[in-house]
Formats: sequence, C-alpha cells, structure tokens
Amino acid sequence: MYASAPYRHAPAALQSALIGLRGAMRQAMREGDLCRRHAEELARTERFGQEALANWQREQLHRSWLALRRTPFGAGLPAPPSPRALAKDWAAAWQALPILDRPQVAKLGTALCTPAGPWWQSANWRFGSQTSGSSGAPLRLVGTRDSVSREQALVRRQMQWAGWRPSDRRAWLRGDLVHPVDRLDGPFWRDSASERMRYFSSYHLSDATLEAYVRALQDWDPVLIQAYPSSLALLAQALRARGRSYEGRGLRGLMTSSETLGEGERAVIEQVFGVRVSDWYGQTERVAAIGQCEHGSLHVIEDYGFVEWLPREDGLFELVGSAFGNEAMPLLRYATGDLVELLPEEAPPCPCGRAFRRVRRVLGRQDDVVHLPDGRRIGRLDGIFKDLQGLLEWQIRQERVEEIEILYVLPDGAADFDEARMERAARERLGAGIGLRIRRVPRIQRTRAGKLRGVVCLVGKAAGAEGAR
Ligand SMILES: [Zn+2]
Repeated sequence: MYASAPYRHAPAALQSALIGLRGAMRQAMREGDLCRRHAEELARTERFGQEALANWQREQLHRSWLALRRTPFGAGLPAPPSPRALAKDWAAAWQALPILDRPQVAKLGTALCTPAGPWWQSANWRFGSQTSGSSGAPLRLVGTRDSVSREQALVRRQMQWAGWRPSDRRAWLRGDLVHPVDRLDGPFWRDSASERMRYFSSYHLSDATLEAYVRALQDWDPVLIQAYPSSLALLAQALRARGRSYEGRGLRGLMTSSETLGEGERAVIEQVFGVRVSDWYGQTERVAAIGQCEHGSLHVIEDYGFVEWLPREDGLFELVGSAFGNEAMPLLRYATGDLVELLPEEAPPCPCGRAFRRVRRVLGRQDDVVHLPDGRRIGRLDGIFKDLQGLLEWQIRQERVEEIEILYVLPDGAADFDEARMERAARERLGAGIGLRIRRVPRIQRTRAGKLRGVVCLVGKAAGAEGAR
C-alpha cells in the first residue's frame, strides 16, 4: 500500500485514513468469530498440564498429517496412525515423515497444497503470501482464513502476556514505509483510528529526528510498543546518551520480533523505557513460535506448532517445526534453519506455571543493517523482494558507505525479470542519496557455516569479518 501512487501523493491526514481503513479491513478478515473461538481454546491450552498438552498436540498433528496426505506430495507418504496409537509409539510413527528444508519446500510448491475446500465456507478461503526470504531465498505459502485467524489469536495472546489489553493503545515501529523515505521533514508517523495505533516509520530514525519521535511517542502514550529491536535500541541509546528516559505514563510493555535481540540492547532498552521487553520469534512459514512470558522466560509456544530439535555438532539445535491448523498447506517437520540454545534439563520450572518448554536463546537470523551516507541505519530490507516473481536468491552487500549492491539469482535459462521494479523497491527504502548497483549472478556465496545471508554490511568492520554465521 505505501508504495502505491494514491498513498504516496495523499496528504498525511488522508494517509492516516487509508491506514485506518486497511486496519478495519484486516480486523474484519482476521478478528471475527473464528478468532474468538481460537482465543478461547488458547486460553485453555496455555493452562494445560504436560499430559493434556501432549494429547492435544497429537490430535492437532494427526489432523495436519491427514491434510498432508491430501496433497500431491503427501499422497505417497504413510497414513497417520490414530492419535491413540500415536501416543503409544509416538517417535517411530512420527519419524516416517521426512524433514523438509526451505529449498525443498520452495521446489515442491503447490505439491504441498490440498485441493481447495468449499468456497461458501469462509473459513476455507485461501490467502497466498510470499516470504521475501530474510535469508535470501523466497518461498510461496498458502493459508486458510481459519489459520490466519488462529495466528491473530496467538499474536493477541502474546501481546497480552506483554501487558496489553484489547482496546489499549499501541505504537508500531517496524518496517512500515508510512512516510516517503526521501522526505526528511515530518511527521514520520500516521495514526490508525480503527486499530488505536500510531505507525512510525523505522526508516527516518536518526539523531536529528530523535526528539520528534520521542515527543510523538509520549503524546500518543501507548500501552504497548511493537518494534524491531534495532529501532528500539537506537531510541534507547540516544535517550540515554542525553541522560534521559522515556516519560510516557501508560506504557506497560515492549514487544520485539523479526531480528535478534542482543542482551546488551535489551538492558539499555529496559532501563530507558522502564518496562520489560517481550521478545517473539516466529517465521512466515508459521510452523513454530517462541515467546517471552510475564516472567521473562523464553517459552516454546506449544499450542502454536510442534517443535523438534535437530542436534548440531556445536551444541546448538536447529528448530524443526510442524504447523497446526492450516488445512491449505500443512507444513510438517519443516527445518527452519534457525538455531536455538537450550536450557539445561535441570533448570527450575518457570513461575508462570505454563507447561511450555523453555529455551535459553534464539540465535536465528542475525540480519545486518546497512548504513546510509546521512548517518541513518536501515534494517529489514527484505521487503524489497517481497513481490518480485521468479527470484531464486538475493543478497544485499555494502562494502563502502557510498554504495549498496544487490545480487540476485534467477533459475537457469530465465530471461525476463523486472529489474527496474527491484530498483524502485530498493530506492523507496534507501532513498536517492546512495549509489545502487544491481547485478544478476549465477550463485551467491555462502558463509563458512553454509548459510546464505540476506544482508552483508562490511562498513566499519575489519577485513574478513564476513563471519562464520
Ligand atoms: Zn513462563
């Protein structure tokens, strides 16, 4: 929406109205009866003891497994034993399903989708999405309206863990381009009346605009701020450098996600804002989630998806997730590529009383930010690639502060690709003040750990810093 001509040319008040209208439409689609029913179920499942939870999970997996069997890919797999039989010899039965990674899922595509259900049942309506692939390889995904409503109920519950109550005010400081990136005059935020939210641009935050951001945040006085950790850290560090702290009185919690939150950043943020940061890990594939409870423990959200740990030689574990409740594209045993450090088994239970497992930290996707010549730092650039068709892989590289290079890979023999569109999408986020080179390449080099990194920024780093991650 932000990139569309009507939005870009509208005055700020009309832009706010458009954002509010989009919010109202989203609410109608996601937050109706379906969402309420899921919320009621989630209120029960988060209080389940271990045995009830395990039984409930097996029922969900059984249903997802049946759905998988209705896909072209799943037709060749064994049928699931009954939930009761699954309970008896769980491990053996479950191992019959293969583990799939991102390239395999990308290749299978619609072979992982079930035939569409009756259109007159709105719970069956399907929504497609494409991950930009923050790791650099895009993926097409399909979800039912029911699964979208369930996701919404889960996110709302997480917001409540962070101190928010329905109808409370929120502020949003994430990758939304609510204000054109080249406009260096404000306001850098827009208000959505339908959602009681103030959307801030995370692209204009700098020393020069800091005061305006802090004032706008305090005036709005949200109960919850949802933000990229890097944006919150920038605000907090700048305030602390001035010997100040955040003064909004209504604030009860901060919710971060999409980037890795460092412990040092967390400490500064919590000190300056005076409330706890509740971090959330998830992926667009929606197979698993990890979130922080009121006591600060990182819990596997056991009623979100089923989580298995794949051990690695370095003592870390790769998260393998199996989705609950998506009849359109049942992703089971999906290897996310994200790494987790587990808690020792003898760790005492969390005072919150939930039977959800806990982890020490999520090391997943450590995206670098790029530097603009005017001093701003910009992260989450994967949005550039979100709507580009036919792209296999991409990487954003920056070696000098004056220039950014985008590398991309197309399938062998592919000829037509809309490079101009990619350039426009990049310019929307980076502005005109930096050099931009776009280059098609046969392949993109991996890190020593074999990972494809979406963003590699070497500005201000020693040679050879393109780490082992
Ligand atoms: Zn807890």
